[in-house]
Amino acid sequence: MDFSLNDSQRELAALSRRILGDRCTPERLREVEAGGDRFDPALWADLARAGILAAALPESLGGSGLGLLEQCSVLAEVGRAVAPAPFLASIVLGAGAVGVEFASLYRSCGAEVTVVEMLPSLVPLEDAAVGSELRRQFEARGITCLTGHRLDLGSIERNEGGVAVTVAGEDGKEQRLQAELLLVAVGRAANVENIGIEGTGVVVDRGVIAVDSMLRTGENGVSAVGDVVGGFQLAHKALHEGVLAVESIAGRDPHPLDPRLITRTTYCTPQIGSMGLSESEAQAAGYEVAIGQMPFRGNGRAVIWGETGGFAKVVTDKSDGTVLGVHIIGHEVTELIWGPALGGLLETTAFEMGHAVAPHPTLSEVLSEAALAVSGEAIHV
Ligand SMILES: Cc1cc2nc3c(=O)[nH]c(=O)nc-3n(C[C@H](O)[C@H](O)[C@H](O)COP(=O)(O)OP(=O)(O)OC[C@H]3O[C@@H](n4cnc5c(N)ncnc54)[C@H](O)[C@@H]3O)c2cc1C
Repeated sequence: MDFSLNDSQRELAALSRRILGDRCTPERLREVEAGGDRFDPALWADLARAGILAAALPESLGGSGLGLLEQCSVLAEVGRAVAPAPFLASIVLGAGAVGVEFASLYRSCGAEVTVVEMLPSLVPLEDAAVGSELRRQFEARGITCLTGHRLDLGSIERNEGGVAVTVAGEDGKEQRLQAELLLVAVGRAANVENIGIEGTGVVVDRGVIAVDSMLRTGENGVSAVGDVVGGFQLAHKALHEGVLAVESIAGRDPHPLDPRLITRTTYCTPQIGSMGLSESEAQAAGYEVAIGQMPFRGNGRAVIWGETGGFAKVVTDKSDGTVLGVHIIGHEVTELIWGPALGGLLETTAFEMGHAVAPHPTLSEVLSEAALAVSGEAIHV
């Protein structure tokens, strides 16, 4: 790592020292590097904080007094100078939500990352178009995506360099991969053993606790919610089930939870947000499907942010326009998916979604335009 600083950076380092004492000096950074520390999160956070403060404060308050553009360029330089040494080369087994989130995080820390997934696409539970776009963006970030590859668990071998594994493609062709770290992001299962339900009326069916629409088990007075009852393994699904179960116990008459209305979010870069049926799920369910898709490159806010990758896709029932599913991939899109969930609850149509006026410039415009695209009426495609 090269810590030779130019004048602006030296000025910034001096200001950082004033703000944070001796914890953020170039000397300290050299020590960290010489000591072989790969990643010192505390130092990294201190530096970021000091850099931002020092660059943004006016001179009269002890800051840099630099102009906005200058601040940005200095911060970028400082960021490069203090970037952590390359993180561990990693293999991530499984390209579900957890796998792609960690793959993305490791890559952001500078690791060489290989994702191994036996199904044909990344995030295989999402709409196929979302999986393809994620792959395109992951590969552009330098993440190797071995979809359609099975990792032979018996081949895992610890060695001096870390870990070696063998993966085989659909054609049976094998390759040996070496990395410092193997993250297993598959095989989450409900914890239903030795939890005191043995010998009761609680039934475990295919690994999860069987419940009715009010989350009641087969044992009188015992309800179950969350991951143990199957379905999406998501925190907000568990929370809603908890509320539902308690309201039911309290004698209210709550509305059962419709699994199609449960939003899904994945916090990789780019983010993914979805609800309802994918295009192929809708077809498999017997719908004649009409879809609309709007890319973020036609969205003003995405252009302002310089984050134009990704799209929103609306899946509808062609017979009456009912929205069956919404799938979004792009910058910060997890913030957008609640609106479609409300639409789903109200059984909205593409026409209604397209004519709900979205404010400009916001990412939300991509949703109304995707809905308008179902009937070929999107404007900014
Ligand atoms: C890496 C990772 C990332 C995730 N990210 C997200 C996300 O971004 N968004 C999202 O919605 N979901 C996410 N999830 C899923 C989410 O964490 C789960 O769906 C959610 O926690 C399920 O809630 P739960 O109450 O069913 O189970 P848990 O949260 O697992 O709670 C069960 C609790 O019961 C305790 N317990 C177990 N056995 C016993 C016992 N015998 N006696 C007493 N206590 C016991 C456990 O210690 C635990 O605290 C993520 C999961 C993982 C693994």
